[in-house]
Amino acid sequence: MFDKYSKWIETHRERLINISDKIWGYAEIGLEEEKSSALLISELEQEGFIVEKGVAAMPTAFYASYGEGKPVIAILGEYDALPGLSQDSTPDRKPLEEGAPGHGCGHNLLGVGALGGVFAVKQAIDDNEVSGTIRYYGCPAEESFNAKGYMVNAGLFEDVDISLTWHPGFLNMLNVMSALSVNSVIFKFHGKTAHAAGDPQNGRSALDAVELMNIGANYMREHMISEARIHYVITNGGKAPNIVPDEAEVWYFVRAPKRHQVENLYERLKKIAQGAALMTETELEIDFLSGTFNTEYNKVVQDVVNKKLNEIGAPKFNAADKKFAKELLKNVPSDTIEGYLNLVPPDLMDLAKAVLSQPLNKIIIPPLGEGKTLPGSTDVADVSWVTPLAEFLIACEVMGSPGHSWQNVATSGMSIGHKGMLTAAKILTLSALEFMKNPKLVDKAWKQFKKDRKESQYRSPFPEGLQPPFHRLKN
Ligand SMILES: [Zn+2]
Ligand SMILES: [Zn+2]
Repeated sequence: MFDKYSKWIETHRERLINISDKIWGYAEIGLEEEKSSALLISELEQEGFIVEKGVAAMPTAFYASYGEGKPVIAILGEYDALPGLSQDSTPDRKPLEEGAPGHGCGHNLLGVGALGGVFAVKQAIDDNEVSGTIRYYGCPAEESFNAKGYMVNAGLFEDVDISLTWHPGFLNMLNVMSALSVNSVIFKFHGKTAHAAGDPQNGRSALDAVELMNIGANYMREHMISEARIHYVITNGGKAPNIVPDEAEVWYFVRAPKRHQVENLYERLKKIAQGAALMTETELEIDFLSGTFNTEYNKVVQDVVNKKLNEIGAPKFNAADKKFAKELLKNVPSDTIEGYLNLVPPDLMDLAKAVLSQPLNKIIIPPLGEGKTLPGSTDVADVSWVTPLAEFLIACEVMGSPGHSWQNVATSGMSIGHKGMLTAAKILTLSALEFMKNPKLVDKAWKQFKKDRKESQYRSPFPEGLQPPFHRLKN
């Protein structure tokens, strides 16, 4: 029924690819996405969208609406890059600028796929085929600081009926796996400096506190659920061995499948930090950077999206794409694939093996990993707790390509990524139109949502009054 709107994406492919390539080239990291967000905003304004800029105290966060009244359908966009991954769109390692950021998670595609989606829905509103509001959420800093959590906190999703999103991957499927809830926190210790050899008795080492805290945390590992993950890096360990460090800090991630499990582990970790401060006569300061929930998808929205996914089908890669993929595959380790095979039920094993042995995924596969949790975290989770939401994956990468890699930067800037992005835009369009045409489906999704939230509800993972962590940015 809405074929002409998926065709709209095809007719406007050059324009969308051009925007995506520009954002790929800007490659700006979280909360610094000035050019990327400005480009998206100007494109949205050209199409007549009303844009609210600098929302939730973040200059690069925005949302853009078109149409009026209910339902309000949100499509989520991201556009932040990752540090150090600069790479040309070539199958061999070739940084465009040594050490500079790159789109290793394909968020240039994610953001512009979503843009194509809202533009095509706008056409349907203009044609009076559907009524309601289509909204693009410009969500910065997915990789680092749970910007979506701040946007949820600011009440920006309060009138949203349905949320849709996607992510570039190496498979084409509905995403059914949850993601880990996380707290990202810096523990900073303040001690007293002294000449390390001359008057060590006058020093109180902040680095000692960091080390003792890490030892405590490593002992705690023995007594936590096996699905939990704790990792840290020392972000300041002092200046020189002959100066007792009066300042030191360590950055922790605490992750677990459920929010309450993270909170429990985090409380225990805080006690360990306090203990380390007590042992070393230093002062502890906690800098809470961000936290997210685990993802909870809505079955009703998932069903609609899965139908559209199968209707549109996989991206159509050509011989040149395949050639590029084969070259790039020489640089891809094989163990990601093995991890996926663990998720495959026995009746799908033959199909899975056939798909995973190809350089590119050319069919839509049944969702893998139902009931399981992805060993990573995303701030899409927080939106999934306040609106009915579904997410799908489209092949924009070569088979088994590791996440956050230069290999993904390469495909995000050439025709493999472009084709995936346009496919995603069509699926987002058709899914949004389905909900706009059929308000009963929206009611059904909300009934399911209320049922799912009966036992546990969303509470912001941030301490009261927390501001986005601009103080942690390097520039
Ligand atoms: Zn990522
Ligand atoms: Zn990502």
